[in-house]
Amino acid sequence: MQCSTASPCAVPPALTVKPRLARLLLLILLLLLLVLGCGYAGYHLSERSGIRDLAEGGERQLELNARAVESEITKYTYLPSLLELEYSVGRLLQTPTTYRRGLVNDYLEGLNQRSGSLAIYVLDRSGRVLATSNWRTPSSYLGEDLSFRAYFQDAIEGKPGRFYGIGSTTGEPGYYLAHGLKSGERIIGVAVVKVRLDSLEQRWQRARLQAYVSDENGIIILSSNPSRRLKAVHPLGPNTRERLARSLQYHWWALEELQPLARRTLGDGLEQVSFAADQDGEADAGPITYLAQTRPLNDTPWHLTLLTPLQEQRRAALSHAMLAAVACALLIFLGLALNQRRKVIATRLAAREALEQANNELERKIAERTADLQASNQRLQAEVRERQQAETTLRQAQDELVQAGKLAVIGQMSTSIAHELNQPLAALRTLSGNTVRFLQRGALDVASSNLQTIGELVDRMGKITASLRAFARRSGDQGEASLEQAVDAALLLLQNHPGYAAVQLHRDYAHGPADVRLAIEQTRLEQILVNLIANALEAMSEQAERQLWLTGHDDGERYRLSVRDNGPGIAADVREHLFEPFFTTKPGEKGLGLGLTLSASLAAAAAGSLTVQHPDSGGTAFELNLAKVSAHQETPRHD
Ligand code: ADP
Repeated sequence: MQCSTASPCAVPPALTVKPRLARLLLLILLLLLLVLGCGYAGYHLSERSGIRDLAEGGERQLELNARAVESEITKYTYLPSLLELEYSVGRLLQTPTTYRRGLVNDYLEGLNQRSGSLAIYVLDRSGRVLATSNWRTPSSYLGEDLSFRAYFQDAIEGKPGRFYGIGSTTGEPGYYLAHGLKSGERIIGVAVVKVRLDSLEQRWQRARLQAYVSDENGIIILSSNPSRRLKAVHPLGPNTRERLARSLQYHWWALEELQPLARRTLGDGLEQVSFAADQDGEADAGPITYLAQTRPLNDTPWHLTLLTPLQEQRRAALSHAMLAAVACALLIFLGLALNQRRKVIATRLAAREALEQANNELERKIAERTADLQASNQRLQAEVRERQQAETTLRQAQDELVQAGKLAVIGQMSTSIAHELNQPLAALRTLSGNTVRFLQRGALDVASSNLQTIGELVDRMGKITASLRAFARRSGDQGEASLEQAVDAALLLLQNHPGYAAVQLHRDYAHGPADVRLAIEQTRLEQILVNLIANALEAMSEQAERQLWLTGHDDGERYRLSVRDNGPGIAADVREHLFEPFFTTKPGEKGLGLGLTLSASLAAAAAGSLTVQHPDSGGTAFELNLAKVSAHQETPRHD
């Protein structure tokens, strides 16, 4: 697989181990190893101290048994030397005769019985048996040449003969103690006592003691376990083997080597050895390990070895190992729990600290925000004050403007007014002059008629000025009007109008039981409605069927009232002049041409509007748009 450096090889997901998991596994492995290590250390420490204790105990045991073996051996050392005192023995050695031999045989037989030894016999200087305690038995040594025996060779040289061996005649193992018998300074023969030492073995077996005694050749001569008997504790060289075979010390025994399964030297005379169980007669068990303690036996070239089984100690060491492992596991568990607890506490502390920090931060932000809010509140309050100030200023300016607008309209109208007033004034001047002349002439009828005309002209001029005064009046732009009341008042005023009786009125403006309240002074609304309804009635004067609709539209904050008739409508060329002052299509003195102008001005003064529509269905519709006064709103009155 080739991988570029730019794009590293993708590892299959199944093969990737998260570092955290790997760390955890490693930790578990380490802890397991630690537990095992504790167990191992516990085992070793326990084993070492157990071995030490066993060795101390074994040392005492070894000493006791060594003393027992030594006393068993030395018990007979005096016996062969005793024969030197026996007169018949000396005589036999010096001059052997059958009679003397018989005497000595009897003597030895009796001595042997009393001492409990195996055999007692006397050899001449050539090593031949002259007399023996077992002279009666078929396996008697009598006449046998035992000069090859080491004990004879030692004793004939005047040294004490000590020898363990198997009898060449009887094949019976025994301990031979030999003593050179002297006559004066000269050794004339050798006395030998053969004793059995197997009572030691039986004693060990009864005491369930594992022990053996090895001789100067390293051959086990005494053993609590018979299978170890006559085995070599260390390897024998071929020369040694040959020498031993020649000496017949161990008869024809093969002298196999005692082969422990394992051997470990622990100290001076201290070893750890394992033997197969079958050697101990326990076929079902595995190898058995012993603590072997060896000590030389005094006055002999032999060694006593004590074997102490280590099973109990092994079991104890295993228990201690398990205890150590469990204690270690518990300590680890405790450590982990403490660590976890420390972590939890640290996390809690960190969380608390973070919470405190967050809290402090929050409090700081709240303080900042509060300060900001206070500042912006103050700014807003200042702005509100400024706005109120500006609104007041604006309202004043608006009032001024409205007033100025009115004055401007009056200014605009002044020419028309002058024209309108000049005409009746000229007529008045002419009529008054004529009337004077007619009065001088006595034409009272004509004068009367003229005066009547003058009166009408004055009325008309009065109407014009009254309208203008009402229009120019400053106060009353603001106020509150009831639509219901205004309509009723307007209709009441128009009751005597010629067209009123024949008209069919459709009132569709009051929505629900609540009255519609509009932001305009009551009388002004009535004035507008009178103008609009009067115009409609006049427009329909020629109609056979007269319909008048008063329709309201509630737009929420504003209200639109439509005054529609089914009259002839307004000619196109007339439409653009409708709201001009003094524009009228009404003949003669019927119209002033101020109704719509004034109505529109009054609506505008109340922040409203008056517009005209020409429905396709015919007739004319005037729409008055005014602000509504809600229930909670209070409109200041300017009267
Ligand atoms: P005046 O009523 O004195 O003539 P207005 O200003 O009220 O003055 O009306 C101006 C003109 O507008 C009227 O002369 C009339 O020709 C026309 N007019 C007003 N209302 C209607 C209407 N409903 N139908 C037809 N024409 C109308």
